[in-house]
Amino acid sequence: MSRSAHSGAAVASGTLPVERLERLWGWGRTSSATSYVYRPSTPEGVLQVFELARAHGATVGLRGAGQSYGDAALNAGNICLDLSCMKRILAWDPGQGIIHVEPGVTIEQLWQYAIEDGWWPAVVPGTMFATLGGCLGMNVHGKNNWAVGPIGEHVVEFDLLLPNGEVRRCSREHEAELFHAAIGGFGMLGCFLSVTLRLKKVHSGLLDVEPFVARSLDEMIEVFEARMRTADHLVGWVDGLAQGGQVGRGVVHQANHLGPGDDPEPARTLRVDRQTLPATLMGVVPASVVWRLMRPFMNEIGLRLINELRYRWSRASGRRVYRQSHAAPVPELRAGVARCAGLQDAAGARAAERPPGTARRPQAPPRGPLPHVPCRRRVLAGARVQGHRAEPPATLGARRRVRRAGPRGRGPPLLREGQHDDRGDGAPRLWRGTDRAFPRAQEALRPRGAARDGPVPAAP
Ligand SMILES: Cc1cc2nc3c(=O)[nH]c(=O)nc-3n(C[C@H](O)[C@H](O)[C@H](O)COP(=O)(O)OP(=O)(O)OC[C@H]3O[C@@H](n4cnc5c(N)ncnc54)[C@H](O)[C@@H]3O)c2cc1C
Repeated sequence: MSRSAHSGAAVASGTLPVERLERLWGWGRTSSATSYVYRPSTPEGVLQVFELARAHGATVGLRGAGQSYGDAALNAGNICLDLSCMKRILAWDPGQGIIHVEPGVTIEQLWQYAIEDGWWPAVVPGTMFATLGGCLGMNVHGKNNWAVGPIGEHVVEFDLLLPNGEVRRCSREHEAELFHAAIGGFGMLGCFLSVTLRLKKVHSGLLDVEPFVARSLDEMIEVFEARMRTADHLVGWVDGLAQGGQVGRGVVHQANHLGPGDDPEPARTLRVDRQTLPATLMGVVPASVVWRLMRPFMNEIGLRLINELRYRWSRASGRRVYRQSHAAPVPELRAGVARCAGLQDAAGARAAERPPGTARRPQAPPRGPLPHVPCRRRVLAGARVQGHRAEPPATLGARRRVRRAGPRGRGPPLLREGQHDDRGDGAPRLWRGTDRAFPRAQEALRPRGAARDGPVPAAP
């Protein structure tokens, strides 16, 4: 399962269908790669992709939700096995808080499913869009790492598909070495097909939150060390632009779970729809437009001003304890902040594009194993979701060939020597440009919004 994840590597030769070619990005938008992308929705489909890879001598790179900042979920020129369509909850024991899920289930799906029974994932990274497979692959940490360890500590067992096609059930008792190596193994040892996880019991949908202002980095570290004994979660905001003796100043937030009986109405606060903050700021400004208001401040002077205001406001507010839901901030705010920073959070951005007042209100999921929900049709990330166009082909010759092939989406398929056209909707044009320019020309000709969720072709 070796991978070449840097962008620009040559596309694997052979007869993998060109319709599968897709350009994928890391979350930080600093790296991208064109791969043959497969999104199976069953374990059999995953096995078929491995067989296909073996038959074509291609490598397989695994991808969950692609929330890794860099290139961890990219596999240039080879197969990218995207597990995001394997998102069924297979079994749930609300008495013990033990859940058995497919690897594409996200952290958000997990808590939405379990919270009304009084359970919450023991470890939650800073994004809720990450999948369980990706979280295990990276052994992610939460804001309580010193107390409960990373997510691997809460895994009961998993099924791992090895590159040779074998499926092994691993736990601390059986296949212990593989169990410990695959957690945090970057998907290099095999593919998680299902995961059994132990969740944390919660007695309320709220947490007690207390802020502490730190005037310097030393003070911030002191606050952390002092609060670790009593806190369930600790997170620090650091003013990265402060200078002199104020370097590292900021605010530490401590959050603690409520004990049994501390919340007078646990049944209400544990409801899924109580877990999101209001879709407006101060009841007036729609959260979805906050990023527009913040845009003028996205420069050094503006950020200094915001940091200064935030720091002073925190000092003026003092150490008041308040109660907050587990799941905050709202996706719209997250998306706005990401946009301001020039980053793209596709799922959040889609939410932010909804008209004001129609913000997502998650519905309580149905009890019992979830029915299979067909995967959304994907579009080329650069073409629609982020509103960017695919880059034009690099060379003049390549551009001319693309122009000759007709308007975008209507030209015949562009193939490399040895590749076959299985669309049968026009005589293919043979690509004679460089390896580097080929994926771009391919993208430029791809029909907009073309479906990529077709069945996995059987290995020849
Ligand atoms: C806003 C934001 C905040 C974050 N905060 C935190 C944080 O607080 N703590 C933290 O630890 N991380 C954090 N992260 C990083 C993120 O949680 C991890 O990168 C996580 O692994 C992403 O999960 P994913 O499903 O998107 O996986 P991907 O990014 O798609 O893949 C990650 C790795 O897992 C492997 N993988 C994916 N699926 C499988 C599978 N089924 N079987 C085997 N391997 C697989 C991939 O090959 C890859 O190596 C944050 C990321 C963002 C964008």
